[in-house]
Amino acid sequence: MAGRHRVTLIPGDGIGPEVSAGARLVLDAASPGIEWIERQAGSVALAEHGDLLPEETLDAIREARVAIKGPITTPVGSGFRSINVALRQGLDLFAAVRPARSLPGVPTRHGDVDLVVIRENTEDLYQGVEFAARSPQAEALREELRRLADFEIRPDAGVTLKPISIAGTRRVVRFAFEYSKANRRGTITLGHKAGIMPTSDGLFLRTAREDSIDRGDVEFEDMQIDHLTARLVREPGRFDVLLLPNLYGDIISDLCAGLVGGLGLIPGANIGWEYAVFEPVHGSAPDIAGKGVANPIAMILSGAMMLRHLGEPGGASAVEHAVDAVLEAGKVRTPDIGGSSSTMDVAEAIASALAR
Ligand code: ATP
Repeated sequence: MAGRHRVTLIPGDGIGPEVSAGARLVLDAASPGIEWIERQAGSVALAEHGDLLPEETLDAIREARVAIKGPITTPVGSGFRSINVALRQGLDLFAAVRPARSLPGVPTRHGDVDLVVIRENTEDLYQGVEFAARSPQAEALREELRRLADFEIRPDAGVTLKPISIAGTRRVVRFAFEYSKANRRGTITLGHKAGIMPTSDGLFLRTAREDSIDRGDVEFEDMQIDHLTARLVREPGRFDVLLLPNLYGDIISDLCAGLVGGLGLIPGANIGWEYAVFEPVHGSAPDIAGKGVANPIAMILSGAMMLRHLGEPGGASAVEHAVDAVLEAGKVRTPDIGGSSSTMDVAEAIASALAR
């Protein structure tokens, strides 16, 4: 049967194939029309194709326009800094969306968390402009900086550049406002360190401020990132949408995962104008890989985000409610949240809760 949606599935490394199998089971039950196109990236792709990120995988995502992937580990010395970053940059997936909400039956310090991190995904310190200490390039950079503005960098310094552009900021700001309106979110809080980095963080802040005028019902505020971090751990219920440059977004999303019960529970999406790739926030967790005990909920909730993106809000809500129901019942859960069930036990319990 031809599917209503074509979706590229990249199982990934470590616990990736396990949580992917769990997510597929649930998504097939929630939306039987998905046609899966399975492609590889990471160590399996290297073994099969001699390439960590094969062009045929990228082509499959471009063709389907939507993909869901498990975590991918980048082997040290492989020539890639990060396969995940290469994928985001290659497909221009400029906004990462990571919702963190308190889940029933998962005890945490704060019970009222319902926030969404929107992270700029292509620029900032992740752009990959690196100058190794004592390299000829670093030496040339030192000379150029001295000539340009009398900046003196120590001869043994390694340098990572932090480019943040107006165009790169505008699109993620626009996305954040559109997302907030579409999802009935009231306030965007932008995190920055503009006092210390006026030309990069300051530009991010000024551009967002200008573009936030006339944005209708969504409130806009900004906060220094250090202050924001302290407020987040004390009163996370005060926040709604957090809009952050790349590096702060990476760190704060893990902090938010911790606030609601851990990495095994937090879904994510990487969105561009043309393509969308859904993935859990967690990595490949080699310590538990192959044991069948990884929590599939982050991947399953990433699948719910994907269903919403595909125009199936009913299916998405059904998956989210089924996850809540299984967590609330508390009988079937993986060890990371205090249970002893397997990955597939949890996926099966969620799939059968869908039907109820
Ligand atoms: P990366 O650098 O790719 O983010 P990492 O090793 O820093 O990877 P993760 O792989 O995300 O971080 O995981 C950190 C730890 O959290 C793991 O070692 C594992 O114990 C736990 N963890 C992460 N994801 C899950 C999951 N889905 N289920 C259970 N435990 C998990």
